Amino acid sequence: MTADQSVDVLVVGGGINGTGIARDAAGRGLSVLLVEKNDLGGATSSASSKLIHGGLRYLEQFEFRLVAEALREREVLLNTAPHLVRPLRFVMPHVPELRPAWMIRAGLWLYDMLARRQTLPGSAAVDLSSAPYNSGLQPSLHKGFIYSDCWVDDARLVIATARSARAHGARIRTRTACIALGRDNEQWRAVLQTAGGTVEEIRARFVINAAGPWAKNFLGEIAGLDVPFRLRLVQGSHIIVPKLYEGQHAFILQNDDRRVIFAYPYQDDYTLIGTTDVELKGDADDCAASADEVRYLCRAVNRYFQRAVSEQDVIHRYAGIRPLFDDGSNNPSQVTRDYALRIIGMPGEAALLSVFGGKITTYRALAEQAVDALRPWFPGLGPPWTKTQALDGGDLGAGGLTSLQQQAAHDYPWLPQSLLHALTQRHGANVHALLAGAGSMAGMGMDFGAGLHAREVDYFVEHEWARTAEDVLWRRTKCGLQLTPIQQQAVIAYLATRAS
Ligand SMILES: Cc1cc2nc3c(=O)[nH]c(=O)nc-3n(C[C@H](O)[C@H](O)[C@H](O)COP(=O)(O)OP(=O)(O)OC[C@H]3O[C@@H](n4cnc5c(N)ncnc54)[C@H](O)[C@@H]3O)c2cc1C
Repeated sequence: MTADQSVDVLVVGGGINGTGIARDAAGRGLSVLLVEKNDLGGATSSASSKLIHGGLRYLEQFEFRLVAEALREREVLLNTAPHLVRPLRFVMPHVPELRPAWMIRAGLWLYDMLARRQTLPGSAAVDLSSAPYNSGLQPSLHKGFIYSDCWVDDARLVIATARSARAHGARIRTRTACIALGRDNEQWRAVLQTAGGTVEEIRARFVINAAGPWAKNFLGEIAGLDVPFRLRLVQGSHIIVPKLYEGQHAFILQNDDRRVIFAYPYQDDYTLIGTTDVELKGDADDCAASADEVRYLCRAVNRYFQRAVSEQDVIHRYAGIRPLFDDGSNNPSQVTRDYALRIIGMPGEAALLSVFGGKITTYRALAEQAVDALRPWFPGLGPPWTKTQALDGGDLGAGGLTSLQQQAAHDYPWLPQSLLHALTQRHGANVHALLAGAGSMAGMGMDFGAGLHAREVDYFVEHEWARTAEDVLWRRTKCGLQLTPIQQQAVIAYLATRAS
């Protein structure tokens, strides 16, 4: 791209919100360039609790708009990304001294009503003294409640969204930061810098600030604009420990500070536990799970499970930052999780829209609203379209993932079942493009372990913007959890041979 090139919309930030807006805008006929300073989904959007949920606990904060929208979007994502989103039953053990049963029953009733469920089962009381839900739990827990939400592969949802954006004509450039932005009559001049140090300038009629935790920094320091609102950075951490219980259900556990903690099955052999809410006083780049947060999460789950966990059991930990719109709340857990869109600039002049806060669950609706707001600048903008259009790889037909897996088992009989399941879940309908011409396990190339082969690594590099081992091992897949340091080195070495 040369300095003379211009686009309708420059999106800064390749998390779920930036890729969602790029997809929506490109599909409505705008020319779009998205720049991401690191890897797609490399920040908050791969460090979430991985739930597509209404947020049961937000009912206590009277966030009915957010919960209703999120529950609607839960159905949308189940239909449009069926390989990445799957139903999950949540069990809430009843602890009368924390919340009375009537309050939980009322909350779940409201949750079911707001959901207008098409596919997921409703809530019910459940017996925790017998199988299957007693697995791993303290024998003192007898009663509980069960309700539905969904699980998502968050990092792969970002990739699927970015691929959809590209399929509609958006250009996606990773390892490219927007380092300066200034107005030039009716356009913006944006200075972009690649990881290799190359600097270039482009012009855009509209800029979307989807920089997540860096949104305020982008406005103030990069664009030199006033920031007429406050953003709070609230860190949330997760830990992964060896499996604490059998079964495919999740737990929502009430803590004695009135927060809730989730625990759910992860990658067959593990339990994922999160999250915390800690106000981050420093910079967004300083985000890391602290020893205090790990102890907090261990204490919270030890109240419920037979096998106690401690810091020594933690196999992996990660942290992300919620960039929340400051509503003046004293308690980080109580700050609104709803999103806000703010525009600087009038029709006819170069304008900029900033995204603050939000949930992965509501990203499609957020993107639709953001692009709708561009109409005064682009009167020929097409109508909304993303609600019923499958994401890249998500067009699985009426039979869904099961029929894709049956078809794949027929087409690739040489593929072990566990690998077939992993690949269909990661790639959905694109599994055929990945496996075309492989013919046998030899055609999958070098075996790095944990079901990762050279053919898939090549695919990530050629079709999904992967560059580093971290992109492959922790975002395009979660194989990093199972591979030994030596096996991980083999992936690094393989990527180096490709780059040379
Ligand atoms: C602990 C935690 C748990 C959560 N759990 C859930 C959950 O279970 N369900 C749910 O629905 N939501 C959840 N959320 C919320 C959800 O993760 C976020 O709302 C969402 O990921 C935000 O996406 P984003 O695109 O706005 O930000 P990000 O994913 O952070 O993306 C912003 C991107 O901008 C890039 N960037 C910044 N500055 C520049 C620049 N100058 N040039 C180029 N690129 C730049 C960054 O590198 C980054 O990749 C959770 C959040 C946290 C922190």
